[in-house]
Amino acid sequence: MSLTDDLYRETILDHYHQPRNQGELANATVKIEGVNPLCGDEITLYFNVDDKTLSDVKINSHGCSINTASGSIMTECVKGQSLDNVKEVVDTFKSMMLTKDDDTELPEEMEDLECLRGVKKYPVRIKCALLPWNTLQQGLERLQSGKTSSSDQYVEK
Ligand code: ZN
Repeated sequence: MSLTDDLYRETILDHYHQPRNQGELANATVKIEGVNPLCGDEITLYFNVDDKTLSDVKINSHGCSINTASGSIMTECVKGQSLDNVKEVVDTFKSMMLTKDDDTELPEEMEDLECLRGVKKYPVRIKCALLPWNTLQQGLERLQSGKTSSSDQYVEK
């Protein structure tokens, strides 16, 4: 185990034990559940969109450390961002996690996500890391198509 691996593990545990932006948003523009049956991760994501900006976001995580940490860091990366920026952040992270031998460079404001790159060594855990991101993406797509409902759910397959 190298020093950087230790640092990455510390970042994951920090976000796991003190997840940022945890909770619920009353009257959220979008509320959507995310489920990863492979691990048992369950999240509920709430976010508000005002003037093409993701003005607020909260997440309720009941999952493993990787899932909770990934969701916590995600909220920090997307909160207050324009929807265009949010899309870019989501695309960058997903390409880092899904491209084999990727050389994705993370911009400074996303550097906390570096700790999740090592998760790629464990393919079954990649879905744990991706669940919050795929759930956010699904929520944004439903919002754009005007098809949001209070029972919206995204399930990893
Ligand atoms: Zn998990």
